[in-house]
Amino acid sequence: MLRLRLTVLCVQRLELRLRCLACGHAFAGPTCAQCPAAARGGARAAAAPFEAELGARVTDGTGEAYLEACGRHVWTLLQASDAIVRGARDATARCGPLVAAQRDWWECLTRGGGAWTCAEGFAIGDAGHAALARLWPSAARWQREVVAHCKPARTPSGAPQTGRAIRVAGKSVPSLRPEKSIGLVACEVTPVNMQMEAERMLAEPEAGWPGPGRVALGPGGGYLG
Ligand SMILES: [Zn+2]
Repeated sequence: MLRLRLTVLCVQRLELRLRCLACGHAFAGPTCAQCPAAARGGARAAAAPFEAELGARVTDGTGEAYLEACGRHVWTLLQASDAIVRGARDATARCGPLVAAQRDWWECLTRGGGAWTCAEGFAIGDAGHAALARLWPSAARWQREVVAHCKPARTPSGAPQTGRAIRVAGKSVPSLRPEKSIGLVACEVTPVNMQMEAERMLAEPEAGWPGPGRVALGPGGGYLG
């Protein structure tokens, strides 16, 4: 396990989906399209786990790497409040899976440099776009520096890393992972600046503090939520 102090340079990819508890496939819109119609009552969006995956270009000051994060680490990296995550989940339940991909490799998604794709036959709509836009932190508040416990990403030897396509609802969306980059998978992510993190939480009273058990002051006084 590597312990690295990383600065997020550019968020390159974000995927959101609801996972069907009955069959394990991703939902298409508000129901699972894989389960038989009779079983869809038991495969409702309300009970489905909400999954998020993020890919970002990061640096530790000595070189760059491609960092993959999933689950709660995504929300830590984006510093998304509970209310913002709920909004993204609602949008995903209406038209997911949702994928944000860059238009150009140098443009960070957080600066509006990307486009969202939803499930075929569905539309994101104005409310959905508004909820998804809130996922991108404002430049002034976004804390790009984190301490991340990472492991190297497993990439098949000899496999090309560019042009990897993600399939969403039958459509192919290009993933612009840079060639020959070092791949890292985040296992734990902690914002470096606790004061900035505390100010962000206080500025969003509706989000509240994470509940008991989600915050701990570790050896470094870190946020372990
Ligand atoms: Zn299913």
